[in-house]
Amino acid sequence: MTAPNPARKLVISLHDATPFHLARIRKAETVFRNLGVAKITYLLVPEYHGGYPSAESGEFISWCREARPFAVDWHLHGYHHLEAAGTAAAGGGAGDAFKRKFLTAGEGEFLALDADAQRRKLIEGREVFRRCLRADPAGFVAPAWLFNDSLRPILKELGFLYTEDHRHIYQVSDGTRIESPVVTWATRTVLRKYGSLIVCPALARLWAHEPVLRVAMHPFDFDHASTVANIRSVLRRVMSAREQAFSSDLVFA
Ligand SMILES: [Zn+2]
Repeated sequence: MTAPNPARKLVISLHDATPFHLARIRKAETVFRNLGVAKITYLLVPEYHGGYPSAESGEFISWCREARPFAVDWHLHGYHHLEAAGTAAAGGGAGDAFKRKFLTAGEGEFLALDADAQRRKLIEGREVFRRCLRADPAGFVAPAWLFNDSLRPILKELGFLYTEDHRHIYQVSDGTRIESPVVTWATRTVLRKYGSLIVCPALARLWAHEPVLRVAMHPFDFDHASTVANIRSVLRRVMSAREQAFSSDLVFA
């Protein structure tokens, strides 16, 4: 096996860390351990779908603070991870409504929110994050990577350092960004699930020369043996070719 190329970075992440998904996340961690993952970004959801408050689950908090054989960079990820009823009518154009409905199954929580609502969710979310991890989040990732122009100024005001969308990772302080495509699996419909098994390895090959590649996994991926096998094979390939990194390791220009 050739050594990873230090000029090519790999940012691995696990989305949707919440008490609701704890059993799936434990399965995911077994996969990460067995593959020898060195660095992974975990995205914490403060109160998944309004019914799973992270800071009130003792089991989840203990899990958050567990020692691991790999380094974890924790970022904040939305608040409810669900679009509030009525926000589709309150903001965003028809195109935004389309994006939310068809790309996210209604999980584009931040896309239609005004600045004040975003600020409130970020402040409350950070409070939950602190209670779980006894630290401040360095980064924030909007659910489904969807947000509007209000987000980055508020992140800056609140002292967040990094955020990202489908195509880029941003340094919040000065707005610089890095081009970074992301390989991510879909499991919501049978068609998408099997499509991902073809598309994800193909994208990993297509993007082999991109300086910064992201691989993002979701807890539901770990319900499907075929998806897990596909994840293992893609991760093995990209981990052998690239140096693993956190947002804080990247050079923004
Ligand atoms: Zn998510």
